[in-house]
Amino acid sequence: MLIGQGYDAHRFTDGKDLVLGGVKIGHDQGLEAHSDGDVLVHALCDALLGAAGLRDIGHFFPDTDAQYKDIDSRVLLRKVMAELEREGMRVHNADMTVVAQRPKLAPHIELMRNRLAHDLNLEPHRVNIKASTTEGMGFAGRGEGIASYAVVLLEE
Ligand code: MG
Repeated sequence: MLIGQGYDAHRFTDGKDLVLGGVKIGHDQGLEAHSDGDVLVHALCDALLGAAGLRDIGHFFPDTDAQYKDIDSRVLLRKVMAELEREGMRVHNADMTVVAQRPKLAPHIELMRNRLAHDLNLEPHRVNIKASTTEGMGFAGRGEGIASYAVVLLEE
């Protein structure tokens, strides 16, 4: 078994859709990024790469590379999964936390879970997604952006 953790944060920006866990969420702002800004999937990719000893998402998908401009982060997640499969590893489970003061994420968690479980080749009960606020503290609390944490366990 190999454990990995990932963290990411992005700031809100106007004129972009908000995408979290592969789900488009109705909100007046999206997240600034070279990709679609799916901060939850980025943290998950980093946890997977970390567990596998394969560095990080920026190493595989540099934000200077035009082919990743506005890319659906689930495409990146599937590329990470292909790397793991090449190394003979599969995912045992994943646990994630999204830290956001707004919008309310509870109505979207189940769909995020199903989509990420599909990409991770897991049953949905092996993928857990939690939403948390920071009671108004820090950048997430002030509504400046969203952060995400992910922990995964891989089997060799
Ligand atoms: Mg990111």
